[in-house]
Amino acid sequence: MTVMTESGFIHAGWIIDGTGGPVQQDMAVQIDKGFIRSVAVSQGYLVNKPGAVDLSDCTILPGLVDAHVHLFMSGVNDPALRALQLNADYNFIKPVIAKHLKQLHTYGVRAVRDGGDYGGYALRYKNECPDDTLCPVQIKTAGKAWRKPGRYGKLIGRPPADGQTLAGAIKSQNISADHVKIVQSGLNSLSQFGRETPPQFTLEELSEAVSAAHKRGLKVMVHCNGEQPVKTAVQAGCDSVEHGFFMGTDNLKRMADTGTVWVPTAVTMKAYAEHLNPDSTEAVMARRNLDHQLEQIAEAKRLGVVIALGTDAGSLGVHHGSAVFEELKLLISAGFTLPEAIQCATGNGAGLLGIKRQGQITKGMAATFIIFKGSPEKLLQSSGKSGFLTESQAIKKNRVSETRKSHGIYNG
Ligand SMILES: [Zn+2]
Repeated sequence: MTVMTESGFIHAGWIIDGTGGPVQQDMAVQIDKGFIRSVAVSQGYLVNKPGAVDLSDCTILPGLVDAHVHLFMSGVNDPALRALQLNADYNFIKPVIAKHLKQLHTYGVRAVRDGGDYGGYALRYKNECPDDTLCPVQIKTAGKAWRKPGRYGKLIGRPPADGQTLAGAIKSQNISADHVKIVQSGLNSLSQFGRETPPQFTLEELSEAVSAAHKRGLKVMVHCNGEQPVKTAVQAGCDSVEHGFFMGTDNLKRMADTGTVWVPTAVTMKAYAEHLNPDSTEAVMARRNLDHQLEQIAEAKRLGVVIALGTDAGSLGVHHGSAVFEELKLLISAGFTLPEAIQCATGNGAGLLGIKRQGQITKGMAATFIIFKGSPEKLLQSSGKSGFLTESQAIKKNRVSETRKSHGIYNG
């Protein structure tokens, strides 16, 4: 990630600032020592100002955040490759993770929150980076998730040791993890609409676990679908509900009251519907699950629940990077405006990941952002790809105006 270290002006055609406010047109961004000093209407005065970087044909927005990925898994629909990835050693997975990060970067994603893998490989990968601020995509990872023995979650985590409570396990878990992931329900049924699985942990177990994590300064993301599993997660004080299919209105109200963030991962069901045999019960059920989730998202918006965009990339048909654009489109189909959907993928995501001074293009924030060539309407049409300037293109663009005078480099 390159941060603009110098000072100067940018003339932006359009800004989507990550706050959910409307698209701003013809704007001047003043940058001072790598931070945004002001954002104001350009009124044409920057056009010929010496040293101003001309991005008047571009849309700038904060780097995107995918708040739910599994870096060890690809979304490929190849059973043999999937089987390999779900049971491999670190040497096999390491280049897989590198490839996913590259893909994510191409799509403008600058930070991800990883929900865990059986080997703790994403955490190991991150720890092997000599300086993770130099990594093209910031990784926040749970390492391995926690689950109940004999229940769902084997691919992404492990149960506490024999005789150990969940809270006790969290107290002694690897210190380098960025957050805690707990699996509190099963998967969504693709044979029976809305079938709920019982909570994996009791409210008491979960409450103690969340407070143990919070004492260590770690946020807690909880995989949960269905009314009871989500209710216990929210009552236990978790920081985010992951998936939350079929959670129901009462839970949405609870989350609005407590400020619990929701990461709906609707794209997983869209991908199932598209990748399974279209006449199969499973494909029909995936479509119904998706429709129901979109209704819940619309209700969450009405109630004021904070949504962070997450895709569960690595799930069948959910590809790292492109899935962010699929999920953005789904949020819009549920009633979000483009800037509101982008807010879920920038400001709200950065807040959930605890990334300071990023996620918004507003006064005082770091001057790192992604640059899309074209107007905001084209952003989703092109699904971002090919539209974002690469770092070298951004530098080049900078040099074009450099004939006037050079300033820093940006492009998140
Ligand atoms: Zn997941």
